[in-house]
Amino acid sequence: MAIELFNNGKHLCLMFSDLVEEDNGESVQSNQFLIVQDGNGILLDPGGVLTYNELFVSMGRFFPPKQLRYVFASHADPDIIASLPRWLQGSDTKLLISRIWSRFVPHFCPQGKTEGRIIPIPDEGTLLPFGDTNFEILPAHFLHSEGNLQFYDPVSRILFSGDMGASMMPASKAMDAVTELGPHLPHMRGFHARYMVSNKVCRFWVEMVRKLDPEWIVPQHGAPLKGRKVIAEFLHWIENLSCGVDLMLQDHYQRPQKISINQL
Ligand code: FE
Repeated sequence: MAIELFNNGKHLCLMFSDLVEEDNGESVQSNQFLIVQDGNGILLDPGGVLTYNELFVSMGRFFPPKQLRYVFASHADPDIIASLPRWLQGSDTKLLISRIWSRFVPHFCPQGKTEGRIIPIPDEGTLLPFGDTNFEILPAHFLHSEGNLQFYDPVSRILFSGDMGASMMPASKAMDAVTELGPHLPHMRGFHARYMVSNKVCRFWVEMVRKLDPEWIVPQHGAPLKGRKVIAEFLHWIENLSCGVDLMLQDHYQRPQKISINQL
C-alpha cells in the first residue's frame, strides 16, 4: 500500500512500507520511497529482490517505472539496493550513491549494465536539480555505513534519513507517524546503539539537521517522525547516545570458546 507523505498536486512523496513478506520473520521490515514532480520520478532506497516486483507494480499506479530518472541509495546494504540490477534492466535510470560504494556496485550487476549509469556522490554531498526543485544529498557518513548519504526534499520538508531514526516494528505499525519519542524509544534504542558508529558522528549530524529544520524525518525502517516536537526530542536523544565503537570493550574481542556452531 502506498502512503502519501506529501501531495500538493504538483509534487508527490510516497512511502511503501509493507512490501516485504513478514510471514517467517527472517527479513527486516523496510520502507521504499517515490518522489514525482513535473513528470519526473526518483526512487529512494528501493530495496532488495524481495521488494522489486511489488514496488514495480505499486509505483506504476503513480509513475511509469520505465521512465525513472534516478535511483538514490543511502548506502550499499542489500535491503537498500540489491534490486538495482532489475531497475537497470527495466528502465534507463541512473544510480546516485556515495563514491565510497560506486565501484563496488558493479559486482552485483550483470556485466556492462552499469556503464555510465552510476553517479558517484562526493563525501560533502551535492544539490540535485529536479524540475524546479533542488534536492539536497547530505553527508551522513558512519550513520551507519562508511559512505552514507541522506536525501532532503525542500518542498515537502522531508529528510529521508536512511537508517538514522529507524525503528524495528511490523509493517502494520510503521505506517503511523510518531509525534512523541518516549513510547517509541524501545523500538529504536537497540538498533541505534549497535548500528550507529559513534556518538561523535551523531553529534555532527545533529548540528547539520538542526540548521536544516525538517518537518519530517522518515527512516528506511519503521515509522516516520513528524513535527518539530518529536524531531527535537530525537535529536536530543541521539546526540547523547553512546553507540557503536563507544560501547566496544576488549572483552568483545576474544577467541570463541564456549559455543559451537551446532548449538546456535
Ligand atoms: Fe544498512
